[in-house]
Amino acid sequence: MVSRRPFVGGNWKMNTDLASAVELADEIAASCGQLVEHCDIAVYPPFPYLQAVGRTLGHHGVQLGAQDLYPQPDGPYTGEVSTDMLLDLNVQVVLAGHSERRHVIGEDDELINAKVRRALEAGLNVVMCIGETHEQRQAGQTNQVNINQLRSGLREVGIDQLRQVTIAYEPVWAIGTGKVAGPGDAEAVHRLIRRNIADLYDEDAARSIRIQYGGSVNADNAADLFARGEIDGGLVGGASLDAEQFMAIVRAAVEAKEVNHEARSR
Ligand code: PEP
Repeated sequence: MVSRRPFVGGNWKMNTDLASAVELADEIAASCGQLVEHCDIAVYPPFPYLQAVGRTLGHHGVQLGAQDLYPQPDGPYTGEVSTDMLLDLNVQVVLAGHSERRHVIGEDDELINAKVRRALEAGLNVVMCIGETHEQRQAGQTNQVNINQLRSGLREVGIDQLRQVTIAYEPVWAIGTGKVAGPGDAEAVHRLIRRNIADLYDEDAARSIRIQYGGSVNADNAADLFARGEIDGGLVGGASLDAEQFMAIVRAAVEAKEVNHEARSR
């Protein structure tokens, strides 16, 4: 039985300023303690604060993440950031396909796939986000939308590279809205994702890949979500801007994994 290590990420989006980003990183680093031994923890500050946040996180074990990348090594791409630049700042993990990039900035599946492949080639870990909009859910398209985004995002990603990939299932209607998916509904999509990974790769890959849930996760609802064996942690937006709340979510992920593990070994 594969026991997947939980993974909780804090996506700060276009929030904080230099002082508050450093303060938040400092609070997280100071309170992560032993939790990093049981859970991968990452924060994704805005690009301009990556270096300062990275320095503040120091060697406490919290990973430095980037919210985006551009899939070209260098050149005339005004405003964009390459994987080499991220690696220079000791970034370990990068988001690709976040719903705000898909639906606000207008990124398509092809660009997201190029970003995923470029990040993997550079040796970065990738959290690839997928999820349906409210209209798509209402129209009964939830499964198809998630399958399409999953398959096109992973096009030409080899099984060896899959170890560097985490999927974040983030229903768009739940992001930043306070409307969290029911744990059962979220788990059903996570199962669907795992079945498709088995189909694209193999059963081992499906059992090993981590799938985070994202969409209005907070300290009050995290335990119920993470109690579902299919949910391997969360990608957290709003609630990650408060260190105490973010660390409560991390604790919920660690506790849920312990309970699920005991239940399986009984
Ligand atoms: C996110 O940014 O990926 C997210 C899930 O945001 P929130 O937790 O605020 O819904």
